[in-house]
Amino acid sequence: MYAGPVQDLIDEFGRLPGIGPKSAQRIAFHLLKVPTEDASRLARSITEMKERVTFCRRCFNVAEGEECAVCTDPRREAGVLCVVEEPRDVVAVERTSEYRGRYHVLLGAISPIEGIGPDSLKVRELLARLEPEHVSEVILCTNPNIEGEATAMYLARLLRPLGVKVTRIASGLPVGGDLEYADELTLGRALEGRREVEA
Ligand SMILES: [Zn+2]
Repeated sequence: MYAGPVQDLIDEFGRLPGIGPKSAQRIAFHLLKVPTEDASRLARSITEMKERVTFCRRCFNVAEGEECAVCTDPRREAGVLCVVEEPRDVVAVERTSEYRGRYHVLLGAISPIEGIGPDSLKVRELLARLEPEHVSEVILCTNPNIEGEATAMYLARLLRPLGVKVTRIASGLPVGGDLEYADELTLGRALEGRREVEA
């Protein structure tokens, strides 16, 4: 529809989550108008992020280097893992200042509609951590929506027979919402009020 490079960029933006064809077009033409240095700065940020930041090899949080800031912090309590869906949820829990353990990021949630099963998530990697890290409690801190609950249920069934204490954050969070939108106080209380998951 447009000259090659413009259409290429529109196609690239169109592949990003939450960006439809209209927005993709608007962003591309916006970048066409801005000074070159502004566009270059954006391009550089993307390149730099891809070069310097990756996922922690232990917990799959974002990391500069092989392991993330939480995993390399000796003051964090070993043996307690807070399981979340995405790195942004780590940020949400950290904001509460209520949690001193470590994390495990699944990089998604179970969603049959989108064809995402446990094998697409970092579940095997979670199981592999239990023994070497002497994990005594796993806190299921997935989102309070259908996918998050399904994921928590699945993990609870998987983990309980392995002799590890499995807890779920308390209700009180807005149902159907995302953890990242919960305020620190509410999320902090939900963590504090976590309950052991029964069979
Ligand atoms: Zn980590």
